[in-house]
Amino acid sequence: MKSAAFRYARPEGLAEAMVLKRAEGEDARWLAGGQSLVPMMNMRVAAPSLVIDLSRIRELAGIRLHDDTLHIGAMTRHAAVGADPLVARHAPLLAQAVPWIAHAAIRARGTIGGSLALADPAAEWPACCLALDATLVVLGADDAERRIAAADFFRGIYATALAPDELLLRVEIPVQRGRSTLREIARRHGDYATVGLAATSAPALAFFGVADRPLRLAGVEAALAGQGVDAAVAILRTTLEPIADLDHAAATKSHLAGVLLRRVAAELRA
Ligand code: FAD
Repeated sequence: MKSAAFRYARPEGLAEAMVLKRAEGEDARWLAGGQSLVPMMNMRVAAPSLVIDLSRIRELAGIRLHDDTLHIGAMTRHAAVGADPLVARHAPLLAQAVPWIAHAAIRARGTIGGSLALADPAAEWPACCLALDATLVVLGADDAERRIAAADFFRGIYATALAPDELLLRVEIPVQRGRSTLREIARRHGDYATVGLAATSAPALAFFGVADRPLRLAGVEAALAGQGVDAAVAILRTTLEPIADLDHAAATKSHLAGVLLRRVAAELRA
């Protein structure tokens, strides 16, 4: 199918982008890598009157270290995050996540900001941001910045704390201490995860693909730190209430989450 007719704008800066968005209102959509928005438009799930392409806005691109915090611009492509030396050194969990995201062609175009704004519950970036206690910085219609903790940002399936007129500017990640890993189980490599786990040795454990948003379970983290993996898996079984998807029952997801927890715990210990 082809998308409904729409107008297209490619502003050169943030101020111009916000003026365009304010003038058009909710019928305008930001375009980042287009890897989710364009298919949605082609399937007529989305029919914006105006598409505002963010690709020329320099303030949204790039990765910088400010004191103990890594700033990653919303328009930074998945592949660029994976190849960045600052990320490898200060937030290795993000580099570990990249090979699990879709396929090379999608990683070359898709952006971290697009993925976070989309908030697919089976996506890798939201879970990584949750595990690393990231802060998402957004620009509102009043041109003021608003800071939202990752724990408060994801509100449900494709639902976030972003207001319709807000733009995600960047994600700020405290420099990672200790080890990390990301593991997932999917039907084919490159598919969204059936169940995934982004983890650090803190321990921070962010499960994805199991609920309407990425999840951290404080009881499971405390059990892993204090009593070990058997206790953590036992608590996981009683506290995690996965949502079934089209292919997997809730009980299957619960079992797979336990399998991943054991694998990840072994990897972090090794
Ligand atoms: P776009 O498609 O351009 O935008 C997505 C949404 O975010 C739109 O609503 C847009 O308006 C909004 N938006 C974009 N930027 C901003 C911003 N700065 N502020 C506010 N709103 C904004 N993703 C995974 O995580 N894991 C996978 O395994 C995976 N597999 C995939 C497999 C296939 C076949 C495909 C087509 C996609 C897959 N994806 C996967 C999705 C991919 O990662 C997308 O790149 C991502 O979901 C959206 O990023 P984008 O930059 O393309 O955003």
